[in-house]
Amino acid sequence: MKAKAIAPTNIAIVKYWGKNPLWEKYHIPCKSSVSFTVSDLYTETVLEVERGSGSVEFELNGKKISKDEKEFEYVGKYIAKLNELVPETKNYDYYIKTKNNFPTAAGFASSASGFGAMARALQGVMKELEPKAYEKYFSDDSKLSVFARLGSGSATRSIPEKGGLVIWHRGIPMDYPFGPDEVSNETKEKVIFSSYAESLFPHDYWPELRIIYVSVKKSEKKVKSRAGMKMTLKTNPIYRYWVEYEESTLLKEVINAVRKKDFGKLVELTIKLSNGLHAMMLYTMPRIVYMNDTSHQVIERILELNESEPKASYTFDAGPNAVVFTLDKYEEEVVSVLSEVVGKQNIVVTKPGKGSRLVE
Ligand code: ADP
Repeated sequence: MKAKAIAPTNIAIVKYWGKNPLWEKYHIPCKSSVSFTVSDLYTETVLEVERGSGSVEFELNGKKISKDEKEFEYVGKYIAKLNELVPETKNYDYYIKTKNNFPTAAGFASSASGFGAMARALQGVMKELEPKAYEKYFSDDSKLSVFARLGSGSATRSIPEKGGLVIWHRGIPMDYPFGPDEVSNETKEKVIFSSYAESLFPHDYWPELRIIYVSVKKSEKKVKSRAGMKMTLKTNPIYRYWVEYEESTLLKEVINAVRKKDFGKLVELTIKLSNGLHAMMLYTMPRIVYMNDTSHQVIERILELNESEPKASYTFDAGPNAVVFTLDKYEEEVVSVLSEVVGKQNIVVTKPGKGSRLVE
């Protein structure tokens, strides 16, 4: 049985940075986050499943990855968690062939589109092979987003098929007192499924919006997001205040700005939220730095552009690459300014897109 799925990457405006310490294994975040699903950067995954005893073969971007290579780690852990939650999945062997149409592990969230596509492909095979388990666990996008999350947190937001502006609800509060070994199986499952994604405004809600990927560096980053966020939680004394402030104030403001298509407000919030994330990284011990000199040049040029009116905003994840939001009427001007910094060949203009889907 074979299924093929694609899933786009997504770019967060309200960022995910930190897992609930007691539920780290299941990637339950400390804070809700909000992103735009992106139209042209995606993963394509073919999943082949046969009766067997749980072996996994993984091919990433045309290269077979053996079990002892570091790129295998996420996938190996993913299948183990899948087997734990859905025992029926233990009786199969898995052949995964996946390709990203953009740089892997370079801060463009390949793990998001990667596990988005994996979960969607899994939905395709489960429907045929295990209809009961399919009904219980895989039959709608909010449940499916949980299975993407088990692979990579940000993958949760790549699932909803309507795409556009997507919220990933944190589920249980950050100080939920019990861990998975201290509750019944039923409660454990409830907690795991309490954190899911949904589309708030579909991909075609704001057609004038443009999302520009500015590739500053294609090499792989030094501190993986997973290790970085763990360090922040452990050593950043103001982390909790950041979580509370964003959830109680900025999250709603972002949703309102998009609802009203208020670009000026969106620009202000996007910049503030990106700066806030990187401030949290700097407050970590030892400090985490993902941006480089070119990233800062991009920021300077955008701020210059905005001197007369808000024309563009920037956001940075765990990497030096920028993602810039603008409107179609400013696209040419913004691209020309960014080209002066990184060269035209390092710029991809896209827009909000649909979420993950089965293609065969
Ligand atoms: P990124 O910023 O690109 O998400 P991460 O370091 O967070 O970088 O994640 C990269 C890792 O995600 C890779 O090493 C690999 O294990 C996994 N990954 C990337 N692409 C895929 C894919 N298409 N399918 C499954 N896993 C993937």
